[in-house]
Amino acid sequence: MRCALCHNGETRPGTADKAFSQDGMTLVVKDVPAEICENDQGVVRMSEQVVAEYLERQAHV
Ligand SMILES: [Zn+2]
Repeated sequence: MRCALCHNGETRPGTADKAFSQDGMTLVVKDVPAEICENDQGVVRMSEQVVAEYLERQAHV
């Protein structure tokens, strides 16, 4: 998929870190599935649905 940010690179499925701020706390979730631009290593797309499901899974471990 063509990168939507730089319009130059191609994106690949990968993982990225995602930070949430809630109630004065910051929670960082690592290795969330995302589309990563191979040109600038930017996170092009990270589904909030995916993140929510990820957090849900972690909460039950
Ligand atoms: Zn890019």
